[in-house]
Amino acid sequence: MEMEQLIEKYVRPGRLPHMWCPGCGNGVVTGAIIKAIDKVGLNQDETVVVSGIGCSSRASGYLDFNTVHSAHGRALPVATGIKLSEPRLKVIVVTGDGDATAIGGNHFIHAARRNIDLTVVLYNNSIYGMTGGQYSPLTPANHKATTAPYGTIERNFDISELAKAAGATFVGRSTSFHTQLLVDIIAQGIRHEGFSLIEAVTACPISFGRQNKMGSPADMMKWQRDHGVMLAAFDKLSAEQQQEKFPIGVLYQSQAPEYTKEYDKLIAAAQAKGAR
Ligand code: SF4
Ligand code: MG
Repeated sequence: MEMEQLIEKYVRPGRLPHMWCPGCGNGVVTGAIIKAIDKVGLNQDETVVVSGIGCSSRASGYLDFNTVHSAHGRALPVATGIKLSEPRLKVIVVTGDGDATAIGGNHFIHAARRNIDLTVVLYNNSIYGMTGGQYSPLTPANHKATTAPYGTIERNFDISELAKAAGATFVGRSTSFHTQLLVDIIAQGIRHEGFSLIEAVTACPISFGRQNKMGSPADMMKWQRDHGVMLAAFDKLSAEQQQEKFPIGVLYQSQAPEYTKEYDKLIAAAQAKGAR
């Protein structure tokens, strides 16, 4: 399907124009989500998109599915409740680095640990964009933010590694430059049964780029092109070379019991016991 037809099918016309700044990567990532959903062939009425608060979380309002624009950091508990009450639904969470890894950090690790069947697309623009350019747990050390005018001295999480360590069973990363890969990885994450994290490295030319002299939106995309390396090639780099790059592609995949399935088994066992 052409992009125009995809927009007609999956975007709420009444909610446009969107609020993202010119050159923002959020539209590219949201477009990739639409393409991935179409590729997998999800039923719009049986798909739920849940977001938290922030620039990227506005995506839930633009998308024509069952949607919840929830509270800051709380997309995952809301999504967990929806999935537990109606496990047949496909639940996709759109969130940002500030939303998912600071105020929502605790929810993030526990949703991953439970391996509940949610697909999380985390728009990583390395900053709190909407709330004023503060540094987030994913802002790289020595980078500037309104709350770190001399550069942050904190080390950032590698959220993909954190998700894996916490128990996620599908972890992938791409960028708003590597769009086809991003579509493929989101589609794989949707198909995967269990907690899937897709980290979408995206550009915020306004709140992050300006403060860190990253150049134009096109320069920021070129930065993504030059620093994202497919995992197989990344593994062949020396430790020193790896410091300058980051791996993209499917980073981790495994199988483990899925939470809502286990919950249903528990209910059935308890009912059988009660009937005796
Ligand atoms: Fe995009 Fe940054 Fe503008 Fe937010 S502040 S819409 S992330 S460019
Ligand atoms: Mg952000």
